[in-house]
Amino acid sequence: MSLKERDKKHLWHPLKQHQIQPESIAIIKAKGCILTDEDGNDYIDAISSWYTCMFGHCNDYIIEKTYRQMQQLDQVMFSDFTHEPAVKLSEELIKILPQGQNKIFFNDNGSTAVEAGIKMALQYYFNKGEKRSMFIAFENGFHGDTFGAMSVSGLSVYNGPFEEFLIDVKRIPTPDGTNHQEILNQLQSFTSKYDIAGFIYEPIVQGAAGMKIHDANGLNEILKFCRANNILTIADEVMTGFGKTGKNFASDYIDTKPDIICLSKALTAGLLPMAITSCTQDIYDAFLSDEMAKGFFHCHTYSGNPIACATALAAIELLQSNEIQNNIKEIIRSQQEFNERIKAHPKVKSTRQIGVIFALDLNTKMERYGDLRDKLLKFFMDRGVFLRPLGNTIYIQVPYIISKKELQKVYCVIEEALTLV
Ligand SMILES: *Cc1c(COP(=O)(O)O)cnc(C)c1O
Repeated sequence: MSLKERDKKHLWHPLKQHQIQPESIAIIKAKGCILTDEDGNDYIDAISSWYTCMFGHCNDYIIEKTYRQMQQLDQVMFSDFTHEPAVKLSEELIKILPQGQNKIFFNDNGSTAVEAGIKMALQYYFNKGEKRSMFIAFENGFHGDTFGAMSVSGLSVYNGPFEEFLIDVKRIPTPDGTNHQEILNQLQSFTSKYDIAGFIYEPIVQGAAGMKIHDANGLNEILKFCRANNILTIADEVMTGFGKTGKNFASDYIDTKPDIICLSKALTAGLLPMAITSCTQDIYDAFLSDEMAKGFFHCHTYSGNPIACATALAAIELLQSNEIQNNIKEIIRSQQEFNERIKAHPKVKSTRQIGVIFALDLNTKMERYGDLRDKLLKFFMDRGVFLRPLGNTIYIQVPYIISKKELQKVYCVIEEALTLV
């Protein structure tokens, strides 16, 4: 029996309606940009397996560094012990993180990185003797699937059964270059009515919303307002972090820096799961006290796993290499060219690009998980490219190590698909 068949007996896949959606494709190997399935078909991974494996699958350098760490120290409890991979990772990260970040807290996925950020903001005020319970978030944001993260997410398709258990959130639209005064008025009215602990946002690019790009100046105005009104700011860079926007972090495009940053996905280059919530010294200091209870009692068993730390260190090293930085520039240039080629196509409603992220909206009705989306996915897979349209949005986020030929193939199948819709 094929893996595909055996899968159906005991496995339950995420984000899937098993009754109506096609069965999962069994992947047996991944190298560089290529995924190979059990029937021997190859697919270019044009979305870097959800923006994780930016240095290519099974990257030799990262594997080598990870393997060496595995032989030295596997796992110890981070509440009682420390170790070199964590210490070194904190040093290297602080060097590249946006200004002001000074403390590194470990989690194991993007949702719990957000969860920890939300709890830090709530307890920051609690420890100061202030009760603040409201959060502000963007419409259509996505921050993960645990309760806190789900609460601040604005993509309600996922949240129906849990709506009444969520924490309080007020939503604002993303800045589009013309509306920031309205947003500031809205924020003013929220601050006069509610005790707001924090504002959480995906800086510049909203990933799950369909790679929607918003205005950096408008975001800066919002962040300035938050700062002036003691609203802590939490940048969810789980998707945007580590070079995707053309800078190390999307927050590097914005003058006003966040208090808290959430990281995961490319942090460990798609090799191992890990996440980090970083914060300023000011946040950290609010947890220092003679009383134990003022400490941060949030812990995951695998916090600071030495092997994952070693992987992250290797990934950061690669990110900073000339080779990868040049590749990023080359991908940006090539996507600009592609954009020129297709932006006026009658089937293309709009296109957008920042860094290695490129997205186009089709001139069709938006259906997040509709027929067209399933058809497109199959069309791309049949032609050896893994692209995962979100409704009527097709987006590309290729590994930095992609070859020119592979990248051209991605463009070609998209152009071919346009003739179909
Ligand atoms: C993927 C994602 C998350 C959630 O991360 P998980 O590891 O899937 O829990 C949170 N925020 C953003 C912006 C993401 O893209």
